[in-house]
Amino acid sequence: MTITDSPRFAWRGVMLDVSRTFMPLNLVKRYIDLFSQYKLNVVHLHLTDDQGWRIEIKRYPLLTEIGSKFDPEFNRMGGYYSQDEIRDLVKYAQKRNVMLVPEIELPGHACAALASYPSLSCNGVRPVIHTFLEGKSIHEEIFCAGKETTYEFIFGVIDELCELFPSPYIHIGGDEAPKARWQKCPDCQKMIKDNNLKNEEELQSLFVRRIGDYLRTKNKTLVGWDEIIDGGKLAGNEVLMFWRGWKLSEVEKEVKAGFRVVCTPTTHCYFDYPYKSISTKTIFDYDPVIPGTSDKNYLGVQANFWSHIDRSEHNIDKQLFPRILGLAETGWCKPENKDWEKFKSSAIMNIGSLIRQNVNVFNDSTLNR
Ligand SMILES: [Zn+2]
Repeated sequence: MTITDSPRFAWRGVMLDVSRTFMPLNLVKRYIDLFSQYKLNVVHLHLTDDQGWRIEIKRYPLLTEIGSKFDPEFNRMGGYYSQDEIRDLVKYAQKRNVMLVPEIELPGHACAALASYPSLSCNGVRPVIHTFLEGKSIHEEIFCAGKETTYEFIFGVIDELCELFPSPYIHIGGDEAPKARWQKCPDCQKMIKDNNLKNEEELQSLFVRRIGDYLRTKNKTLVGWDEIIDGGKLAGNEVLMFWRGWKLSEVEKEVKAGFRVVCTPTTHCYFDYPYKSISTKTIFDYDPVIPGTSDKNYLGVQANFWSHIDRSEHNIDKQLFPRILGLAETGWCKPENKDWEKFKSSAIMNIGSLIRQNVNVFNDSTLNR
């Protein structure tokens, strides 16, 4: 028998937020095993955020000595991956045809990094590393975009990331970066003036562009959350990770302007949301390609699992499965080859197999006969 088949999208991914809640190495490996059974081929690791820095960087040891731990009053476990563990994880994923894409959040969501190296912020004040629910969800604390030392630091981190991860893509975050600190910072304001920029949004574009230029010298492509486009003036070869489901028309504009996108909108791809808002059928029905735009600009589709809430492995399983099956179908099949009834009977069989592998699968009513 010969099977002729090929995927609709090259990027069929899942983002695991290992910052808000640290995931032990074996748990990440378990998910790589499970995802790869369904030919999902990208695991995007959200390695840093306000709540923790989770990867060893030899040149900046305080990132893990300080930045991987919550402040003591929050009484919650932190953790990080050593570089040896990352190398092991990369090999483990490669054997299963999974590409690991690292993400370092810049310039916002940076409390853990700035708690480790406060001089990289605009005001030099050390922020607290708190659990998500016990602090602000979006902080004013961000990296200073006006000091050269910030860029030196970022390039130093990128050097080590590029040695560890063979992925041609490096994700630099870019979402939810409030500009209050930059507005008051003499260094940031000088950078705006010296470069004839209109405002702080354009400063973020300059910041992203400088990082993108550096990544290009390493043959890497910059990936960023879709806010990176808000200040305009990017190089055009960045990959946008579209997450703001309410900004579809803006994404349409960017795709038409030639940007490549990975689609992860809040409307279909947020697997930390409850099933009543995003069911297996919701992600199955999703077609990332906006009518009137070219297929070629869509690298693919990805589910995001944010770990704001401290969930046990048992609960993470439930958030991911069976929705992962719908994601795999949307990533692989052209719309004309999708058939809900056929998918449903195969999903029911696969749920049996997942349960035998000790996966705690949620009882999604859209899959009931
Ligand atoms: Zn500044």
